[in-house]
Amino acid sequence: MTATDTLSNASPADLTEEEKKRILAKSAQFSPPSAVLPDGRTELVGLSRAELEQLLVDMGEQRFRTKQLWHWIYHKGATDFNEMTSIGKPLRAKLIDRCVISRPKVVTEQTSKDETRKFLFQFRDGQEAETVYIPDRRADRGAVCISSQVGCTLSCRFCHTGTQNLVRNLGSSEIISQFMAARDSYGEWPTPTADRPRLLSTIVLMGMGEPLYNYENIAKAMRIAMDDEGIGISRRRITLSTSGVVPMMDQCGHDLAVNLAISLHAVRDDLRNEIVPLNRKYPIKDVLAACRRYPAASNSRRITFEYIMLRGINDSEADARELVRLLKGIHAKVNLIPFNPWPGSDYKPSKGEQVQKFADIIMQAGYSSPIRTPRGRDILAACGQLRTESQRVRASEKGLDDVM
Ligand code: SAH
Ligand code: SF4
Repeated sequence: MTATDTLSNASPADLTEEEKKRILAKSAQFSPPSAVLPDGRTELVGLSRAELEQLLVDMGEQRFRTKQLWHWIYHKGATDFNEMTSIGKPLRAKLIDRCVISRPKVVTEQTSKDETRKFLFQFRDGQEAETVYIPDRRADRGAVCISSQVGCTLSCRFCHTGTQNLVRNLGSSEIISQFMAARDSYGEWPTPTADRPRLLSTIVLMGMGEPLYNYENIAKAMRIAMDDEGIGISRRRITLSTSGVVPMMDQCGHDLAVNLAISLHAVRDDLRNEIVPLNRKYPIKDVLAACRRYPAASNSRRITFEYIMLRGINDSEADARELVRLLKGIHAKVNLIPFNPWPGSDYKPSKGEQVQKFADIIMQAGYSSPIRTPRGRDILAACGQLRTESQRVRASEKGLDDVM
């Protein structure tokens, strides 16, 4: 049998599996540094429960210690083994010797006049990423916007992050520790119990990078975030935003079933090909089909479609009517996002009255269509404004940053 025979005999399901493997293999080329430090100690933040348990067993300890240690790390927010009074001194001494519990270094922390707070974090190898906390002004709660990669492979035309090549993926430790370090900044440890308000109540994977091109690390970190004996954020309070990596949308629905947000931004393939180049690989029809399959989508948990309003580009009333037609049969809501300019960007935000006309058409069709108020623009913390100076180190990696 020839290679061509193999291909023609492959079912659509086989092809999707192949595609998933290809994405995961490509993603592995941008791996984060190992959890084992050069001095031989292991970073505990970001290990799964099973990995933590194995580490303790390898140290000659009982399995039940896992729960205690987990509690100290993710419920109490401890970073010093000496604080762990429920753990006996001999084990504490071993942990001090062989393990660490770290946070990224806070390079800068800026608070906007609207209270949005942006952190620039530096990781062990010197690479940097930004994280934003957006408080809800009407209640004691808010969303932490977490980065998944340093840079991004996808060059969406309106996005500042897209002008920075992908440097590398963030590890599960770096992803969850963005949330933990933001909590440090607000002093929100131990994890508030269900009857107390939580300032950091929600996670949105909408920072730098495409989370579905770093799926394994994202999934591991979100499982830690959702664990009830630690940070305990429910899947209903986590939203993953993607530009439409179709095969991994299915995987994410199957494994994590968190809320999904799709960066749609255009209703015709010719325009979307231009402004969201990933559309050339996964066109609108395929992205919407994956939304229809997404298991967590129901009346109470709708899929969010993000739509940046670009003046004269995608904001006509005909576009709004086409959007309504496309969304038929999907439990959806549409977030209309004013375009946030950044140094060198070449679009203009739509006029207010045009945004309102667009929103009205969508609302009349029965979909909620809030117009997002930009937050933290004065400190470049709004959607699509994040970027760091990190660059890829090895010249030999050049050329890997084409669309995956
Ligand atoms: N890579 C993922 C998640 C990060 S981007 C994604 O593309 O979905 C988070 C959101 O910010 C996306 O909806 C993105 O399209 C939007 N965005 C990017 N640049 C923007 C800009 N300049 N103004 C407003 N929103 C922007
Ligand atoms: Fe990457 Fe999302 Fe920005 Fe596109 S919008 S370049 S996918 S971070």
